[in-house]
Amino acid sequence: MGLRSYKCGNCGANLTVDTFNMSAVCEFCGQTLTFDTEEVSNILEEREKTKRMHKAEEEQTKREEARLKHDAEVKKIETEADEFMEGARRVKQGFDTVNRGFNMVKTIVICVFVGVVLIIALIALFAILKHLG
Ligand SMILES: [Zn+2]
Repeated sequence: MGLRSYKCGNCGANLTVDTFNMSAVCEFCGQTLTFDTEEVSNILEEREKTKRMHKAEEEQTKREEARLKHDAEVKKIETEADEFMEGARRVKQGFDTVNRGFNMVKTIVICVFVGVVLIIALIALFAILKHLG
């Protein structure tokens, strides 16, 4: 129990505080002060109650802060996942575009090839007919 020095109200000398008996005695003039133990315990109880309340409020605030932090982290992860999915979607779109272009080129090449084969066949047919005729 921390003690501070008390002065005698009668003569101003320092009082000797006896915490066990909740009293103070002036060694100079003999004035004795007795603390009302019930009042003191009420004050202490009130102080404890206030302390507990403050502690509960602090814990509530800490929990609230932790919850907000957690929410922010979840939100961040969700945003990153969304961005990743958007990136993947764009890559897939790019592949699809390239694929369509490739298919178109393939179709053109096949058409040209078939055309060339037909022309050669016609030329050969005319050559044969001319030779026979
Ligand atoms: Zn005194």
